[in-house]
Amino acid sequence: MLKTYQYPKFTYQRPPELSLGENRMTKRFPVIVVGAGPVGLACAIDLKQQGIDCLLIDEDDTVSIGSRGVCYAKRTLEIFDRLNMGNDVVNRGVSWQRGRTFFRNDEVYHFNLLAESGHERPAMINLQQYHLEEILQRRAAQAQVDMRWRQKVIAVDHSSVDVGTHTRTVQLQVESPDGVYELSCDWLVVADGARSSIRRMMGLDVEGKVFTDRFLIADVVMQADFPSERWFWFDPPFHRNQSVLLHRQADKVWRIDFQLGWDADPEEEKKPERVIPRIQAMLGEEHRFELEWVSVYTFQCRRMLSFRHGPVLFVGDAAHQVSPFGARGANSGIQDADNLAWKLARVVKCQSPERLLDSYNQERVCAADENILNSTRSTDFITPKSSVSRVFRNATLDLANHFPFARSMVNSGRLSLPTHYLDSLLNTADLPSDHFACALYPGSPMCDAPIMVNGQSSWLLRNFNGRFVLLFVKGDEVSDQVVNSEAMKRWIESANIHLIAIDLLQQPRASNDQDPWIKTRLDLQPGNCWLMRPDQHLAARFRKAALDPLMKAFERATGQIEQPAASTRDVAPEQAVAPISGSLTGALRIEPNFKDFDTPVLRDYQGNDRFYDMLINAHRNLSDDASSALNARLLLLLANHIGDVSVLQQAIEAAKAIQTSTSYKE
Ligand SMILES: Cc1cc2nc3c(=O)[nH]c(=O)nc-3n(C[C@H](O)[C@H](O)[C@H](O)COP(=O)(O)OP(=O)(O)OC[C@H]3O[C@@H](n4cnc5c(N)ncnc54)[C@H](O)[C@@H]3O)c2cc1C
Repeated sequence: MLKTYQYPKFTYQRPPELSLGENRMTKRFPVIVVGAGPVGLACAIDLKQQGIDCLLIDEDDTVSIGSRGVCYAKRTLEIFDRLNMGNDVVNRGVSWQRGRTFFRNDEVYHFNLLAESGHERPAMINLQQYHLEEILQRRAAQAQVDMRWRQKVIAVDHSSVDVGTHTRTVQLQVESPDGVYELSCDWLVVADGARSSIRRMMGLDVEGKVFTDRFLIADVVMQADFPSERWFWFDPPFHRNQSVLLHRQADKVWRIDFQLGWDADPEEEKKPERVIPRIQAMLGEEHRFELEWVSVYTFQCRRMLSFRHGPVLFVGDAAHQVSPFGARGANSGIQDADNLAWKLARVVKCQSPERLLDSYNQERVCAADENILNSTRSTDFITPKSSVSRVFRNATLDLANHFPFARSMVNSGRLSLPTHYLDSLLNTADLPSDHFACALYPGSPMCDAPIMVNGQSSWLLRNFNGRFVLLFVKGDEVSDQVVNSEAMKRWIESANIHLIAIDLLQQPRASNDQDPWIKTRLDLQPGNCWLMRPDQHLAARFRKAALDPLMKAFERATGQIEQPAASTRDVAPEQAVAPISGSLTGALRIEPNFKDFDTPVLRDYQGNDRFYDMLINAHRNLSDDASSALNARLLLLLANHIGDVSVLQQAIEAAKAIQTSTSYKE
């Protein structure tokens, strides 16, 4: 029982299939979604909004128990806006954008996730997962999603063929309180969580890392005037050699995560007589609190090799899992749903071929790899796995106290950001003559900006309503004629595209001497056309409007143009790290490179000798531990000075390539 929250109980209803006579045909659903966690709920709402009749089933009849997800990122809130529930989530949660990081007694780093104005949604909100799921469930009910509670999928067959229509069908066996029955569907969306039983029934693997560390979660109710910020401590005096995280949630509930180490006994650590003194030491004697929830968790960073298996599509934790540092679990799962729903809707409505769903796999596997990479790096920094990684971690924190460069290396969690699908086969590349000086590219999620459209002030993303959108900037004579032509109007109508035509002169700006927000963020000029997908990712953009290129871009974005097979990362996540490329291509110098001194005192002119001497002197009288800490600080300072990751990578490889059989101490 929680003090601030009562779990709802959703009504079980006897499934109609159990009342059908022996020979009656059961209904075949276009889509069934299994699992009414945040991801399954978001997917079902989205599909319903896209006009798809889908059934959502869950083995439970309430929301997520205890303390799990807390932080929901701006991009997720923008998706919730499209699902018509953004205000409910933002108003219920605690908005924040600043984070502070401490090492022992000192603050070493702080960040602001959204330093600029002109955005409707905050960088983050904190909200207990049960509140979020309740809001999603309410919205699903309002959207008339067919939801069934206390119905557990116990068997799945995705290779059967419907005898009547000779088409492929997915058969499910479902256990309800009134007995077992069968369901069938054309498409199955699997959102049954990290321990996915459907994944297991289908014999599919997840690959990646399992971390050997334990964290204690304590939710406490307290009146405290701490600001709404994320506070993270490395090795604080009140919890030596471990880390601690503090977040404010709704209803004066504060979430505290204590790193415990792998050897900790979870059952012992959960006892109030162990938890309360820990919290009191952290908050100080003056703060009174009541325990709301205590649990111990471990975590994994891993994913399935492929998220599509014929008519079965995996989303959320069923497809991939990350550590909680960076809040990438539910956020990325909801982005899976955002990516999948419009594509599945088009395929169900026969507007696009099935291969459009391969792009779900391609784009979201890429996103999962990005999330796993970030989450693994944060976890390695927060919970170093070897003495040498602890030395480098602490050296970074020490340097951060003095040098700004090291602050950006402090990794207490790189918080969830949406993936830019830069390699997607659905993108149309910019024309060589169409350079856009902005941070968005084909495949990027659109950024928000205040806009004035049809004389009304609004937000750009608010005007994207789950359809393809054509954003057109008026004021270029030729482009105006193209967009107003009968042919363009016919195409826009037949393709069900939402046209937003704006006049740059009327667009809101931060101040009179600045360009409008939207002009700066998208580098817009009169005549420009941006084609956006229903999930608000950019499909194509042109400096001048022309019908043919727009039609081609739309066909590509909807999977209607056959493309070479997606070069998706069909490899395990740890092998999917992008190679270093771009401008960082310097070569490591291995020929002598020390400069000799142009000094009249000839006895000390050789740079290499002088450096060696300085190095040995710096280590004189230091213990082994102090020496290795000094080396780590030195290496980090020099690495920052070099600043070219490609050179540094070559240096690491050159150093590793020299095989020695003896220890340097011998
Ligand atoms: C300590 C902790 C902190 C976290 N913090 C964050 C955070 O700050 N931000 C964030 O974005 N994420 C966070 N996460 C991750 C987040 O909780 C998960 O990513 C999220 O719950 C995944 O949602 P899901 O819908 O995929 O799966 P789940 O939430 O696990 O839902 C799965 C659903 O499937 C149902 N089900 C299972 N099997 C069956 C079956 N056979 N038949 C029918 N129904 C079935 C279950 O009853 C359940 O309702 C955190 C997780 C933890 C543990």
